[in-house]
Amino acid sequence: MSSSYLVALGSNQRHHRLGRPRDVVGAALEELAALGTVTARSRIITTDPIGPAQRRFANAACILTSDYDPPSLLAGLKVMEREFGRRCGQRWGDRVLDLDIVLWSGGVFRAPHLTIPHKEFRARPFVLGPASQIAADWRDPVCGLSIAQHFARLQKAQRKTTCKD
Ligand code: AMP
Repeated sequence: MSSSYLVALGSNQRHHRLGRPRDVVGAALEELAALGTVTARSRIITTDPIGPAQRRFANAACILTSDYDPPSLLAGLKVMEREFGRRCGQRWGDRVLDLDIVLWSGGVFRAPHLTIPHKEFRARPFVLGPASQIAADWRDPVCGLSIAQHFARLQKAQRKTTCKD
């Protein structure tokens, strides 16, 4: 039985052959067809880096319909990350390609190295922005809010923070 996955993509490093981060994300969106069928894809956006990363990030999201179960899909995504040249042991640093499973059609999934919904997606505008273009009405199975509602909440919170500055 196939499942639907909301996958987030990010890059902030040039690839020796593919070029700029947004070209890396574009190539990865094509390459995801190896793991299923991409039924929707967001535009590719460019965002400022967080933490020690130095360059701007390119981000996007897509809906992938796949026969893989979550651990098998994660394994496939990790192979893709390696093929695109991501170095091991980096977190929040510069990376060629980062692929995350944000939500899936099966609700909550918990395993030692995989949690769905992705633990940090609710606080990440660079995930919620692209995701709201293609999956605005998908619901967070933990709290029941839709992607659009999470994004609106986050934008409201960010506006408040900006006003205090
Ligand atoms: P990251 O640095 O964001 O790529 O995350 C590193 C690790 O997070 C991966 O090796 C996964 O084992 C783990 N992980 C847990 N939940 C997820 C998820 N929903 N999608 C992708 N990776 C996940």
